Amino acid sequence: MTQKDYRVLLYYKYVTIEDPEAFAEAHLAFCKEIGLLGRILVGHEGINGTVSGTIAQTDAYMNHMKADPRFSDIMWKIDEVEGHTFKKMHVRPRHEIVHLGLEQDINPLEMTGDYLAPKEFMAQMQEEDTVIIDARNDYEYDLGHFKGAIRPDIETFRELPAWMEEHKEEFADKKILTYCTGGIRCEKFSGWLKREGYGKSVGQLHGGIATYAKDPEVKGQLWNGQMFVFDRRRSVPINQVEHVIVGKDYFTGEPSERYINCANPECHKLMLCEEKHENFYMRSCSDDCRRAERNFFVEENDWTKKQVEQQIAKIAEVQKSNC
Ligand SMILES: [Zn+2]
Repeated sequence: MTQKDYRVLLYYKYVTIEDPEAFAEAHLAFCKEIGLLGRILVGHEGINGTVSGTIAQTDAYMNHMKADPRFSDIMWKIDEVEGHTFKKMHVRPRHEIVHLGLEQDINPLEMTGDYLAPKEFMAQMQEEDTVIIDARNDYEYDLGHFKGAIRPDIETFRELPAWMEEHKEEFADKKILTYCTGGIRCEKFSGWLKREGYGKSVGQLHGGIATYAKDPEVKGQLWNGQMFVFDRRRSVPINQVEHVIVGKDYFTGEPSERYINCANPECHKLMLCEEKHENFYMRSCSDDCRRAERNFFVEENDWTKKQVEQQIAKIAEVQKSNC
């Protein structure tokens, strides 16, 4: 076993912060002083962050937060890692600390779904009259999700209310369960479901998948694949009992849990891709991206326009023979 001297902290708290701009400025100064790296969003409605640091740095940060009555009861999700998982430290004031794009925003302090501990969530997932709705993005779902969870067929959260509306009838006599990475998105989403009168009941996984993975009894069971995370690690294991790969290589459909970004910086699309296919497909999602004015793969390899076209022809041939 290698010594893991660093940690990643994932946390949020819905609580009124009077002056988010001033708070963000002072908070950033403190984080920089102790050497933390990561991304923190601050708004009138609360705080949402993921940060990395040494054990001493992350302890200093948690102690600092615990000393503030607004944040003393934060539920910290702690992962041990081998180094920083961020390059910079940002603390940004925002209108919303999590963006769900709901027309009428929800204050989870006023309305939210029932909190279910990992064990309760696991039990309820297996009940007949239950539906599980994933409250994350499609690329997060594609890498891993709870067995049987529904992935709303949408591109952005702005489309979620309309999609839900279409399925309202079908969920009417069901118990609805929702989940997300750390729990923050579900606080709003489940509150919205409740306000709009969805299902017989609305429950949310308290502390999110990150907490579920660490529960000593549950051991991440009923999770397939891995969990997408918004830092350098990209993915983390959840199920400690069995590992079923659900991710599929963007180009070949082979099992894959390795995310890359499209080499066209204007596109930057996230794709699952096995290392062995990366160069052949020029690390690009489409021919348009392969021909893009700037393409990092083309630049790194110093390819001419002719070489690009030759490779595109080879790709077309392989794709034709796969059909
Ligand atoms: Zn692309």
